[in-house]
Amino acid sequence: MAEAILPAVYRGTVLHFLRDPGADDDPGAWELFEDGALAIGADGTVRWTGDWAALPEQYLATVVDHRGALIVPGFVDTHIHYSQYDMIASFGAQLEDWLQDYVFPAERKFADPDYADHISGLFLDTLAACGTTTAGVYPTVHPTSVDAFFAQAHRRGLRMTCGKILMDKQPDAPEFLSDAGVPQAEEHTRRLIARWHRNDRLTYAITPRFALSSSAEQLAMSGRLSREFPDVAVQTHAAESRPETADVLARFPDARSYLDVYDKAGLLGARSTFGHCVHVDEQDRSRLAAAGAAIAFCPTSNLFLGSGLFDFAAAREAGVRVGLGSDCGAGTSYSMLRTLNEAYKVVMLKESTKPARRRTTLSALRGFYLATLGGAEALHLDNHIGNFRPGKEADFVVLDWAATPTLARRTEAARDFPERLFAQMILGDDRSIKATYAMGRPIYTRATT
Ligand SMILES: [Zn+2]
Repeated sequence: MAEAILPAVYRGTVLHFLRDPGADDDPGAWELFEDGALAIGADGTVRWTGDWAALPEQYLATVVDHRGALIVPGFVDTHIHYSQYDMIASFGAQLEDWLQDYVFPAERKFADPDYADHISGLFLDTLAACGTTTAGVYPTVHPTSVDAFFAQAHRRGLRMTCGKILMDKQPDAPEFLSDAGVPQAEEHTRRLIARWHRNDRLTYAITPRFALSSSAEQLAMSGRLSREFPDVAVQTHAAESRPETADVLARFPDARSYLDVYDKAGLLGARSTFGHCVHVDEQDRSRLAAAGAAIAFCPTSNLFLGSGLFDFAAAREAGVRVGLGSDCGAGTSYSMLRTLNEAYKVVMLKESTKPARRRTTLSALRGFYLATLGGAEALHLDNHIGNFRPGKEADFVVLDWAATPTLARRTEAARDFPERLFAQMILGDDRSIKATYAMGRPIYTRATT
C-alpha cells in the first residue's frame, strides 16, 4: 500500500453531489469537473475542489495523478452485517427460516474474540476493495463482536457506525444468542457507548435486531437509552417481508403498523435508520419524514430473500431520507455499484405497476447521489462525509472507466457524461475500483497486472 502524502492534490474527473438531483437530474444538485482537482489538507479534510486550471496557488501540493479516472466520494453502505461474512449466498429460504437455519448458527461464533477480530479485518478489507468507506454495521449480540469491529475500524481511521445487537425474545432470538436479561443488555450497551461512541470517527448505534426478536421490555430500554444519548444512532430492521410484518402486527395488537412498534418504544427519531421498509404505507412514510428518520434500501437482499420491491419513489416523494444498503449476507454483493444495478431494476419493476405518467426511473446521477451523499444523510453523518465541500473528511474512490472490456467499449460509445456514468452503474463492480482513500490516505489500491 502506498504511503499517504498530505497535503496533496488529486487530479482526475471529479463528481460530487450537493443534494438529491431528484427524478429530473436537477443540474444545481451536482458538480462535475472533467479535468478536476481535489485538494486535501494535512489533516485529511477537503480544502478545495474545482477545475484543475482554476486551482488556487495556496492549495498546490504534491499531485497524485488519476487523470482518465473518476473521483467520487467514498461509498456509504447504510445496512450490512459483518457477522454474516462466512454465510453470504446461503440457499433457498425466506427471511424467518433463513435467520434460523443460516444466520444464527453463523453468529454464534462471534463469542470468540479472535474469530470476531479476524472476520472484522477481512470484512473491512472487502469494503475498501469495493470503494465503501462508511457503513451502518450489524455485529452480533456479543459485546466482543463490537469491540473487535470498532478496534479494526479505528486502526484504519474509518468512519463507521455499529452497535451491539439486542435480542432476547424466543423463538426469534434463539437461546444461545439471547441477552441474559434487560439489565445486562443495558449495562453492555452503556459500556460500549462509553468506550466507542465518538471515539475518533466511530458512532455507536443502539441496535435492537428487529421487533420480533426483542421483548417489549428490551425495546422500551432501547428507547430510554436513545433518549438519554440523543446523539447516539439507532438502527434496526422494519417491514422487510410480508410474513414477518404480519407476525409483528399479531404480537403488538396496539400498534398501527410495524414501524409504529418502534415509534411507541421511542426508537423512531432523527438519528434512526430502518433497514428495508418494503411493506410500509403513506402514514409510515409521513412519520419517517417528519421525524427525520431514514430507510436503508437493500435491493439485492430484498430480491434474494423474495421479500418484495421497495417503493423508492414514494419514499423520496414523501421526503424520507433514503440510503443504499447491501445487507450482506442476505445481500449478494459488497459492491455498491452492483447494488445500484439491482436498485435500478427494483425501481423499474415497482414503477411498472403505476400509471405511465407517474412512473420514474433511477438515473445514474441519482444513483451515485444515493451511494454517496444520500447514504451519509441516511446515517446522519452528512456533516462529516458524503461530498467534497471544504472541511469534509476526504474519503473518496477512484473509478476505472475501462475496468472490463465491455465497460471500456460501452464508455467509449457513450454520448455524454450521464450515459457513461450509467454504464459504470450497470456494468461496474469491485473491478472498477482503482483506489480507495480514507481521510486522504490510501486504504486500498488495485493490484496492477
Ligand atoms: Zn439486515
